[in-house]
Amino acid sequence: MSSLQVDVLAYEAPCERCSFSLWWVFGLLPSYRPRGEEFTTTDFPEAVDMARRILAAPDGDTADVAAQLYDRPAWQRGRSFNPNRCGACGHHADWHVLDAILTHVYHHKGWIHAAAGRVPVPEWRAIRGGGQGIHWPYC
Ligand SMILES: [Zn+2]
Repeated sequence: MSSLQVDVLAYEAPCERCSFSLWWVFGLLPSYRPRGEEFTTTDFPEAVDMARRILAAPDGDTADVAAQLYDRPAWQRGRSFNPNRCGACGHHADWHVLDAILTHVYHHKGWIHAAAGRVPVPEWRAIRGGGQGIHWPYC
């Protein structure tokens, strides 16, 4: 099966409870020749799962970031979801904190390429552009 390389994008910002600086995973984008409309926010299960698998790859050093990514609890309603949990105190901020980070990065850049990994093309096609549907301006 054909595959493509996808980048996991993150932004370093403190936990609102304990001030520990963590990498907030917010998006996925193809590593090569990405298009703005393919930008995919990591606020729905399939995107969270893909980000976690890329971050947890054995040849990388981002297993701790992968372990901080959280699935949406069954009781939580609404469309938007923050998957990032603080690695120090376990605080799980709500969507608004990740939304503020997304807005900041969109306007001021400064994100981190946290990891990159190959994923099956059909799997990427099924989720690309998903989540908040933000057109990424930095391709
Ligand atoms: Zn914390």
